Amino acid sequence: MKKVENELALALISGAGILAVGAAAGVLAAAVTGYFIDYELVGKESKSPQSERQGFGELVITNKLLTPGASHGRTGQKLDAKGVVIHYVANPGSTAIANRNYFENGSEGNGTSCHYIVGLQGEILRLIPENERAMHAGKAYGVAWATQAKTNNSTYLGIEVCHPDKTGKFSAVTYKALVELVADICERNGFNPYQDIQRHYDVTGKLCPLYYVNNPSAWEKFKTDVYLTMNASKPDLEAEPSDWARTAWEWGIENSVTDGARPHGAATRQVCSISMTYQATRTANRATQSTNSEICR
Ligand SMILES: [Zn+2]
Repeated sequence: MKKVENELALALISGAGILAVGAAAGVLAAAVTGYFIDYELVGKESKSPQSERQGFGELVITNKLLTPGASHGRTGQKLDAKGVVIHYVANPGSTAIANRNYFENGSEGNGTSCHYIVGLQGEILRLIPENERAMHAGKAYGVAWATQAKTNNSTYLGIEVCHPDKTGKFSAVTYKALVELVADICERNGFNPYQDIQRHYDVTGKLCPLYYVNNPSAWEKFKTDVYLTMNASKPDLEAEPSDWARTAWEWGIENSVTDGARPHGAATRQVCSISMTYQATRTANRATQSTNSEICR
């Protein structure tokens, strides 16, 4: 499991003890389930997305919130997002944190920003909460950002993606993290991946994200990958155990191997091995009993 990261200092700056409590709950949930649950700043949702998150695998997001203020690209204006715009950073080999700091430092006076950055190793940074506007997809170039903010930036979440070379193609690990992130965003916000995910190119004409403008089929595949990730089979955590597992499950409760909660939740190999040992022992005992009865008769 990847390391659980959280920036408590930033959480406190951004506003409340509740955030620290949320982070602690996230760490606890990660320890129990193997998934990182980080839900203190998930935009429209205030409840834990834990149940929705179970089917997705690991999604680790590190808070690196920008300092509030227009000069940092964080105006604090409210956003009720209708979709997501994908960008490439257009700076080959640059890291997620370097791009984040570029925004933090005012982006050369432009006050640009985004909600998330996906890095070269698939790391994900959160710069702005989903319910706040970011400055990433202005209507046209040469227009003041303040004016542009009334258009696309009022509609879309923005994700910047790092890339190793000038083609702008995302590496496999970066691509996978991006798919997971966008699937999670679509799931939580009710977005349709085929209709509500846009390239920067689609909303302003800018050649961004370059590789996916030059290769429309790769872009179509991206949306499909998001769709497939959203619809991957998710275990029903509240369902009763399967018939084949029921006796072992009941034995497990009786012998304090499990408390009987979440029968379809993730299990460690250790837990699995206990279950398998139980089944093997039972089978062996049955065989012995059967042999004994033959003898007695
Ligand atoms: Zn862009």
